[in-house]
Amino acid sequence: MNDRQALLRRLPSVDSLLAQSELQHLVEVYSRDLVVAAIRAQLNEARRAILASAPVDICQGALAQGVEAILSRQQKSTLRLVINATGVIIHTNLGRALLSKSAQAAIVAAAGAYNTLEFDLETGKRGSRLAQASGILRDLTGAEDALVVNNNASALILILSALAKGKQVIISRGQLVEIGGGFRIPAIMSESGAELVEVGTTNRTRITDYEEGLSENSAMLLRVHSSNFKQVGFVEQPTLSELTALARGRGLLAVDDLGSGALMDTARFGLEHEPTIQESIAAGVDLVCFSGDKLLGGPQAGIIVGQADALAKLKRHPLARALRVDKLTYAALIATLEHYRRDEALEQIPVWRMISRSLDDIRTTAERWAAQVGGAVVHGESTVGGGSLPGAALPTALLALECESPDRAMEKLREADPPVIARIADGRVLLDPRTVLPKQEVGLLTALQSVI
Ligand SMILES: *Cc1c(COP(=O)(O)O)cnc(C)c1O
Repeated sequence: MNDRQALLRRLPSVDSLLAQSELQHLVEVYSRDLVVAAIRAQLNEARRAILASAPVDICQGALAQGVEAILSRQQKSTLRLVINATGVIIHTNLGRALLSKSAQAAIVAAAGAYNTLEFDLETGKRGSRLAQASGILRDLTGAEDALVVNNNASALILILSALAKGKQVIISRGQLVEIGGGFRIPAIMSESGAELVEVGTTNRTRITDYEEGLSENSAMLLRVHSSNFKQVGFVEQPTLSELTALARGRGLLAVDDLGSGALMDTARFGLEHEPTIQESIAAGVDLVCFSGDKLLGGPQAGIIVGQADALAKLKRHPLARALRVDKLTYAALIATLEHYRRDEALEQIPVWRMISRSLDDIRTTAERWAAQVGGAVVHGESTVGGGSLPGAALPTALLALECESPDRAMEKLREADPPVIARIADGRVLLDPRTVLPKQEVGLLTALQSVI
């Protein structure tokens, strides 16, 4: 009995365990709350073992290991957090854009308390769930109004269903694209009940081709940005201004699916110019749609901005209700948009921080890794990814590891905890610091050591 009591008294406190360096590292990877909860669970387990007179190691090191095991078990039963060492910034398979600190905090806050999602504090009555986000979107893009739906694919479906059902939509043959995952523009059209009228050829379409494709049943000219492929050589497409002038003259809608949709000019970073939302609005397009989690750097969403009458029709359509987004998305989206309004997107939004990260900084990191685990630092390229800026690359410095079997090394890296996703080129395993978060460096180096 006394033995048990003595053992119980020797159990360390939550705070003293938390202060251990191994657990401090876990706080950065998970969060303080999750680590504290795991420490409590581990201490309870130890207490139960002591009371049952079962053998138990209560030294701090053993308890810390137990805490780590609990956290890692929890991780495995949910989305696993991974280390993206591929250098692909908007990696669709790895969850696309990471959210800024304040967008993350906004999600947590909105998840845990009632909020004004559909409540107007001034009148005490029901309010619009859109009001705040659309106010900022209007400010940022110059559009008259905005609507947020589940993703850009659903934005397109809503636009076509609400505004072109049973009517013709004119699109260039050069833009009949597959967005990814088998999702093709012609299939979306037929699903929405719009009739597709293809004009021009694969490589060249002129404004006269659009004119010739028109009939009394035409409703819309649709431009789809060739976001995930690139046409070079003998190619031609009409300008947006030509398209909007034609649409206006014939009483049709001009709609622009921008795909990624940037609010800032990518050319500042030596990349090609990705068309911006402001440019499309300024060119007089009626509706522009784009993704929330590509270059915008926010949560998954489909954002439609443009002319007020067209948006009013979209909002009234039954699909708008089916495709609406929840409070967590709004919270993260508004926080993300605020970064642009405060002109701090480059520092605060991870996508832009990674795009603008200096080569010197990346090389210094790669050299630090090489000093710890070996390998060579070589020149290479990172890509933006996520169906934006195809073929465009950012110069980067890579850690290159010679391995007997690069495939086996990649497999072992994926088995690490947290798993590391890298790439192979010329028989070497390549790791790009650009997309590795500072808090993940310890995990990365540990995984690399076990592979070498
Ligand atoms: C990515 C993309 C889409 C689909 O957007 P999601 O938000 O992934 O649904 C649609 N159109 C274009 C041109 C795209 O690049």
